[in-house]
Amino acid sequence: MGRSEDLFARARRVIPGGVNSPVRAFRAVGMTPRFIETARGSHMTDADGRAYVDFVGSWGPMVLGHAHPAVYEAVCRAAAEGLSFGAATEREVEMAELVCSLVPSVEMVRMVSSGTEAVMSALRAARGFTRRDKIVKFDGCYHGHSDGLLVQAGSGVMTAGVPDSAGVPAGWTRDTLCARYNDLESVRALFAAYPEAIAAVIVEPVAANMGVVPPEPGFLEGLRALCDEYGSLLIFDEVITGFRLGLSGAQGYCGIRPDLTTFGKIIGGGMPVGAYGGRRDVMELVAPLGPVYQAGTLSGNPVAMAAGLCQLGLLRDDPDFYGRLEAVSGAFFTELERRLRAAGKPWRVNHVGSLGSVFFTGEQVRDYASARTADTAVYGSYARWMFAHGIYVAPSQFEAMFLSSAHTPADLEQALDALSAWLREIA
Ligand SMILES: *Cc1c(COP(=O)(O)O)cnc(C)c1O
Repeated sequence: MGRSEDLFARARRVIPGGVNSPVRAFRAVGMTPRFIETARGSHMTDADGRAYVDFVGSWGPMVLGHAHPAVYEAVCRAAAEGLSFGAATEREVEMAELVCSLVPSVEMVRMVSSGTEAVMSALRAARGFTRRDKIVKFDGCYHGHSDGLLVQAGSGVMTAGVPDSAGVPAGWTRDTLCARYNDLESVRALFAAYPEAIAAVIVEPVAANMGVVPPEPGFLEGLRALCDEYGSLLIFDEVITGFRLGLSGAQGYCGIRPDLTTFGKIIGGGMPVGAYGGRRDVMELVAPLGPVYQAGTLSGNPVAMAAGLCQLGLLRDDPDFYGRLEAVSGAFFTELERRLRAAGKPWRVNHVGSLGSVFFTGEQVRDYASARTADTAVYGSYARWMFAHGIYVAPSQFEAMFLSSAHTPADLEQALDALSAWLREIA
């Protein structure tokens, strides 16, 4: 028995499904978890000594590659000074100043410890500010695992969402309305039905949790206009896109100014960090200034702040970082699609910046319904082949590929060659 098998057997006895987050279980592609031992740059090595070129990057944080020497050193230096104080530190001030300087719509920001927590807290602030209860989210967008957001659309657009998880009381999703991504009419209908009850519309400005689905021209602009018309707040969930599509995230990329923004993943440089921020008049309602309560024992943790500050500083100080990453990524995804075409396959590659997905469907993927037309059995075949050939891809059709500045031309070539070999195998 390999070490991974052995670890998995032990894990299953004491951890549900053997993993601390479901996607790591690899069930969607008929595999068992990889237990990772080390990661450097674009590579990871598992407990059996198998090496992979990593196209997941811890689901986004590792935009500079794994264990960047400067980030690693910043963490070590911070750890030597103390792991947690439960008190204010200078690094938190620097982090807040940095985020506010990089993202113009963010005038004040609060640190938390995960993306889930950031979204929960931003929604509470939006509800406190508007004194309204309902929120609109989009089918196929993921905003973490808090109760009110684990919903699927009801049978009709006008009905409230229904819980998508056991353990979520129906009452807790009653105020969550579901709309269709890239479909302004579905949002307009909800506003028409509840003109004075919607506190906020929350959206992934580039969707990356149903696979990558870019916003169509006019979609985000239309959301901005509808929110303004009805006095609701627009929340961009930039947990993935923040500091990935550019220093000012998807909002800079698309030129739309949301009222509130949530961050996670890249902002922590690999440490558990989330943040929410935006308009000063909204954020000033957060405790202790205002009546919206929100707190965290480890929020703004000094070691986590050191990692995030260092990573964001490196991104800021390299003026062409995003230009290069986008050029390399664009060429990679274009070549990937070209090889699918050359093999006579109708499958789609959606990509924006360094995020991309291969959808095993001939349909154009523009929302959750079209994403769901993808053939997950084919995705499983592709993923198992890629892993067997040293390429670590998302173990699910409905997740993105994440490129980093650490990926070399040889890494990308290895992935493309593995894809071509699989295409020949299944021909
Ligand atoms: C990952 C993610 C979250 C949740 O963040 P966690 O740190 O996993 O809690 C929220 N929103 C989006 C868009 C995400 O991709």
